[in-house]
Amino acid sequence: MSESEGREISPIDVRWANVEALGEPGQRRFRLLLSSGDETTVLWMEKLQVDALGRALEQLLDQLPGTPEETVAPDTEPRFDLGSDRQFRVGKLEIGYDEARDRIVIIAYDLEELEEFGPAALCRLTRIQAAEIADEAERVVAAGRPRCVMCGMPMGPGPHACANQNGHLRSEYEQL
Ligand SMILES: [Zn+2]
Repeated sequence: MSESEGREISPIDVRWANVEALGEPGQRRFRLLLSSGDETTVLWMEKLQVDALGRALEQLLDQLPGTPEETVAPDTEPRFDLGSDRQFRVGKLEIGYDEARDRIVIIAYDLEELEEFGPAALCRLTRIQAAEIADEAERVVAAGRPRCVMCGMPMGPGPHACANQNGHLRSEYEQL
């Protein structure tokens, strides 16, 4: 495999993006849809990957200096080609920042390929698109969680700081 120097892939300037969960709770599958307008790239991901991506994007956005350029919202409805050939299960995922273009870059590796092949997709997003993906990721991941009977908020894997318990922690359990 000494000849594999990593293939050349052309970066995708994302026009529309969407995060989706499919299937029943507990057996849900997740995908990130990224469309250039002409072509759709479908990144199939685990829940933990969606969660981690959302958090990483949020963190990166917080760290960026200056203000994002004003972008006009697209005048057309998002369109995604769900039957696209460009879809794969994500192994490794990296994010970066393209300072010259002021774009967030998502670099995705195909789970079924050796890492030395290089990334399978490289997608450039505006800050606004990245923030939308972060919001969507949070919403989609939380949608599968049980909700607290006291406040209605999704309960995470960690301790739940309930807004409706006024410091009476665990009171809902003591009543059981
Ligand atoms: Zn609560």
